[in-house]
Amino acid sequence: MHSLRDFLREAQESGLAIGHFNISDLVLLKAVFAAARELNVPVLVGLSEGEREFVGVRQIAAFVRSLREEFDFPIFLNADHTHSLAKGVEAAKAGFDSIVFDLSALPFEENVRETKEAVEALKAINPCMLVEGEIGDIGTGSEIHDVSPDLSKGLSTPEEAKQFVESTGVDILAPAVGNIHGMLRSMVQGETKKRLDIERIAGIKRAARVFLTLHGGSGTDDQDLRKAIAAGINIVHINTELRVAWREGLERGLTKQPDEVVPYKILPSALDSVKQVVASRLRLFNGERHAAQGM
Ligand SMILES: [Zn+2]
Repeated sequence: MHSLRDFLREAQESGLAIGHFNISDLVLLKAVFAAARELNVPVLVGLSEGEREFVGVRQIAAFVRSLREEFDFPIFLNADHTHSLAKGVEAAKAGFDSIVFDLSALPFEENVRETKEAVEALKAINPCMLVEGEIGDIGTGSEIHDVSPDLSKGLSTPEEAKQFVESTGVDILAPAVGNIHGMLRSMVQGETKKRLDIERIAGIKRAARVFLTLHGGSGTDDQDLRKAIAAGINIVHINTELRVAWREGLERGLTKQPDEVVPYKILPSALDSVKQVVASRLRLFNGERHAAQGM
């Protein structure tokens, strides 16, 4: 089985991106895995600190490993938005393939210093673990927001991207390029879309020369996502779109069977709903034709 780094390299050479989907229960995990298998493309599942707290760090690692081994399928596990080294060490010891070490809320110099320390500590536990660092401000909370935060002052520049990558030794960089966490209500209704700064992505890629992740991909204009991938984005994170689909599917399942109490008869409705969103995003990230034929 190739490593996550191998698949990222392949994606980069083919001008494609790997989809990263947040999960916090078995329904979401099964939906992501089913969609990726159907399209035969590699996939990343991620859990933030809160999501890991709910599912269990070692438990999700065992679950994802069992899928990878039984089906000989490239599904990888990421410790999303980790804010302390202790939580990072816990994930590294459990066998996570990658980690987003996120100190972007700290002043730049502190972010650099502590991320560098984390890279060294985590690689000492598992040299193959990919460490992602984050700069700039893309907001918090993969939820539905009523008002759009003004993040224009937190956009990343090619200069700081280069300095951050060279000083810390991260494998992957998450910049702020117009993306934000969560979705506005108007985005959930499909009336508005997030737009990305494609020129900025291209400039950061030229300067930083590492794999780039786009966080907060939910609700982004499809054409902007394609252009962002062409400009150097290698991983795209989708969370809120899945959460919305999970809830809608669950509500549909409960409404359709008002007297049902058997979870495995109600939950497939949520699973199908999430799977459709994951499949449509994976098709876009992997190039429509490519994904249809399998890799
Ligand atoms: Zn994120």
